Amino acid sequence: MGTAARSPLHVLVAGGGVAALEATLALRKLAEERVTVELVAPEREFTYRPLAVAEPFRVGEVRRFPLAALVEAAGARLRHGVVVGIDPARRIARTEEGDELSYDLLLLAFGARPVEAVPGALTFRGPDDEPALEALLEQALRGEVRRLAFALPGGVAWPLPLYELALLTWSYLTDRGAMGREFTLLTPEEAPLALFGAAASDAAAELLKTRGIDLRLRTSPVSFAAGELHFAPKGRINADRVVALPRLEGIRLPGVPHDPHGFVRTDPYGRVPGLDGVYAAGDLTSFPVKQGGIAAQQADVAAAAISLRAGAPVRQTPFEPVLRGQLLTGIFPRYLRSEPATGASTVSTEPLWWPPAKIADTTSPRSWPRSSDSPRRPRDQPPASQLTSRSGAARRGPATGARAGDRRAPARACGATDQVVRPELTPADRVFLPRGVAAAADELAIVRRTPTMLLWWHGRLV
Ligand SMILES: Cc1cc2nc3c(=O)[nH]c(=O)nc-3n(C[C@H](O)[C@H](O)[C@H](O)COP(=O)(O)OP(=O)(O)OC[C@H]3O[C@@H](n4cnc5c(N)ncnc54)[C@H](O)[C@@H]3O)c2cc1C
Repeated sequence: MGTAARSPLHVLVAGGGVAALEATLALRKLAEERVTVELVAPEREFTYRPLAVAEPFRVGEVRRFPLAALVEAAGARLRHGVVVGIDPARRIARTEEGDELSYDLLLLAFGARPVEAVPGALTFRGPDDEPALEALLEQALRGEVRRLAFALPGGVAWPLPLYELALLTWSYLTDRGAMGREFTLLTPEEAPLALFGAAASDAAAELLKTRGIDLRLRTSPVSFAAGELHFAPKGRINADRVVALPRLEGIRLPGVPHDPHGFVRTDPYGRVPGLDGVYAAGDLTSFPVKQGGIAAQQADVAAAAISLRAGAPVRQTPFEPVLRGQLLTGIFPRYLRSEPATGASTVSTEPLWWPPAKIADTTSPRSWPRSSDSPRRPRDQPPASQLTSRSGAARRGPATGARAGDRRAPARACGATDQVVRPELTPADRVFLPRGVAAAADELAIVRRTPTMLLWWHGRLV
């Protein structure tokens, strides 16, 4: 395929979420002018969903950003549309609107579909389900709901939000004097948050125990009706209300091979076997953990493979997942890190990566060009000065301009570090941001309201 001397390869990215944005930035960095990048996605805003678990408790806020501005800042073009199928032989993606979009290389990053798994429960999928959760909290405050169950159905690939919902509900009610409520968390896991390893399981078990949240392991919640939550293997508990996570399903598109659950298989370099020039990253892949940090790591791997194909001098490494999770607890968050390959598991109340956002990607720079004069991406342990100054800022108290009653102020106390509000760009931000992007972002007022991960994404353009 093409080299630097030839015309640029056209990369089409289907999706406008975490994996799509991360891949776009990585492509610009790695392949530079060897590629043109076009994203196709239906929405006009990028929603940073992880903090949906915090918003109903007023300890965090879901942020939304104009997608076109983010894509443009990443040096790509956004087209609004929904891909409904691909024709790999003609290298065409068809859209719902009837367009045929040609590509040299295609990155599939269209995520997964959350579906109800425990009928009768409040299924918490994200921002759209916040009003229902807020209503439930009100009922619990009034004493109309006294027995609360939190249910993780079998096959859920990212259990962390359920633990957050249970812990934050406990704090919310206790802080407001609503005592005497019963809490149960049911999970098919062998140990709480087992995918993060033994250290994380011990920490999660302790957090639940000290709050009196009853933990039922090796139980798969199935349905809730008439005050009874049924689970497999055979059993049931009484509850007034149940909050459950959804199960994710793949989105089946004609022309895209998928496994029985609708997910797309990839090789260790993000390539879709059997489809030349097609790559995939994020929740839509068959990798069992569906998480933003993993999506970003996969996107980096795929971007490196695409850049190599475009003739960029890139050293490519296979996907070696590292799991990072920030568990909101109601007091200090816990930073969880594990490497499935080695079994290493770490837990800390201090950030284990930088920026300490909920969606974290600090992929090894090995796959990045060696002869770059750009600042290096930080590893899991950031430079002490950076850590000190930024975490210091996060601990100082409410941000300038945060008023009493402002929902951002308590966010700080609860350690939701995605919430750090910078009234102005700091010198450190200026270091991260290229002049042009900083100016554009200022104009669009993106940076002032940007979670650290997005700042970091912008910074990668430097
Ligand atoms: C409540 C909640 C809490 C979470 N907490 C965390 C957390 O703490 N840490 C963490 O790392 N992750 C967390 N996640 C998971 C994280 O948000 C996802 O894993 C991540 O967003 C997946 O990225 P993605 O790009 O694969 O998919 P998405 O971000 O879902 O993006 C998919 C994109 O594809 C678009 N699309 C869909 N179909 C089509 C189509 N046919 N054509 C074109 N575009 C299409 C969508 O509109 C969207 O733009 C959480 C998720 C939720 C809901």
